[in-house]
Amino acid sequence: MSTPVFITPSGKKLVTIIAGDGVGPEVVLATRRIIEATGAPIEWEERLAGAEVFRAGQPSGVPQDTIESIMKTRIALKGPLETPVGFGEKSANVTLRKLFETYGNLRPARELPSVKTPYSGRNIDLIVVRENVEDLYAGIEYMQTPGVAETLKLISAKGCEKIVRLAFEVARAEGRKKVHCATKANIMKMSEGTLKRVFERIAPEYPDIQAEHIIVDNCAHQLVRRPEQFDVIVTTNMNGDILSDLTSGLIGGLGFAASANIGNDAAIFEAVHGSAPKYAGKNTINPTAMILAGVMMLRQLDEFAAASAIENAVLVTLSSGVATRDVVGDANAVGTVEYTNAIIGNLGKTAENWQTRDYKPIQLPQVSGAVDFVKPNERRVVGMDIFVESAETPEDMGATMTKLVAETPLHLKLISNRGTRVYPPTGALTDNADHWRCRFLANDDSADLDDAALADLLQRVAARYRWAHTEKLQYFDGKPGFTKDQGED
Ligand code: NAP
Repeated sequence: MSTPVFITPSGKKLVTIIAGDGVGPEVVLATRRIIEATGAPIEWEERLAGAEVFRAGQPSGVPQDTIESIMKTRIALKGPLETPVGFGEKSANVTLRKLFETYGNLRPARELPSVKTPYSGRNIDLIVVRENVEDLYAGIEYMQTPGVAETLKLISAKGCEKIVRLAFEVARAEGRKKVHCATKANIMKMSEGTLKRVFERIAPEYPDIQAEHIIVDNCAHQLVRRPEQFDVIVTTNMNGDILSDLTSGLIGGLGFAASANIGNDAAIFEAVHGSAPKYAGKNTINPTAMILAGVMMLRQLDEFAAASAIENAVLVTLSSGVATRDVVGDANAVGTVEYTNAIIGNLGKTAENWQTRDYKPIQLPQVSGAVDFVKPNERRVVGMDIFVESAETPEDMGATMTKLVAETPLHLKLISNRGTRVYPPTGALTDNADHWRCRFLANDDSADLDDAALADLLQRVAARYRWAHTEKLQYFDGKPGFTKDQGED
């Protein structure tokens, strides 16, 4: 399955086009002109988003008719969007990604002719497949106490299955041989660990592709030391954000970093860079990132010949030394328009020694739409963590809490401060904040506590302490659904 396409009465594929802010109109126009020059059957529906929309009082930065257009076309080519200071709280880019559930962000990084970097000649050619809607980017944040902040890192097995399958499908579509899954599962065993476990479960379904897990910090290290060993890297949202900027840096920077936001129902193509306001309207910005995003879009629309013609024309143009100021410096540069004209003039040519891949359509993964994607056979509530704000010592809190719950079916197992056990004392030199996690477990190891027992526990603790947050401690199919603290036995 590929993203659905809207066919116009004249038989063309309809694309929503958003010029965006700053340098956006220049790079989007360059891309549009080149696509039109290939003769690909594309028709455009122009829509707004970004600074102008925020200033007009729309707090999301995305007007309804832009949303409706993408709902219809299912494909958008988008320039960078600004959130002007003092308007709106959310980024229009994030709004678009979430509205259309574009769960996968594809960021290719390939060495290009004439773009000199410390890695030139190493033949870097990889793609980062970043989860795009979950993780720390869900934007769920709280101040638990006036001095302690929390961000929820939400990772679903369903989200992991979609991104892992997408990574393997991208590998197959692009004729790639290896997928690395980069996680921090060694520390975040539940959240990052879910991606690792799903990856290891699904990899055998793709016997033609080599699969390897790598710890994300080592992945960053390896990318700098030996980037040519990587083919596809699939990773969580935050890791992918950082790693994909690193990989863009390896091949010459933001002027060349294209990206595709892929969902099963819609896809949005854009350059990674922002609106670079200081270059706006100066005819100097490098449009290659946006042009390569347009190439990815054409492939998503099954316009493979036009896509390869543009990619080849970019390679020919750069090989001939025609480039913008970020590549060759002010003295030797051509302007955005002249660079675009050169690419148009090179359509139909291929560069010596610079091949393009043989692409096939990406088979978008079909994953069950069920909300309860994972159904345990058995679950049991074994306790509760209560997070409280207090300036007492851990010893005083421990003694008081133990007394408070003495007549309940639960006992105080421990108190921790930012994840390190401080009661019962361990002798560790913990520099405490006023935010304590108090873990209460059932006295009977085989108990399944009901809500009344938990409510009674909370009431007893709340009578003496200011509480901020609770977490149920559960077992699913005999396995704990919570981690132990540093220092917990
Ligand atoms: P930026 O617009 O990406 O620009 C930062 C610097 O990167 C530029 O000054 C320039 O470096 C270089 N650069 C960017 N695009 C380039 C290109 N096409 N060719 C060559 N060099 C390029 O980042 P920013 O200044 O942090 O952000 C500006 C605005 O854009 C902000 O409002 C931000 O929120 C927004 N933004 C939007 C998106 C998006 O829509 N997806 C993404 C990122 C940022 P030199 O100064 O060294 O020449």
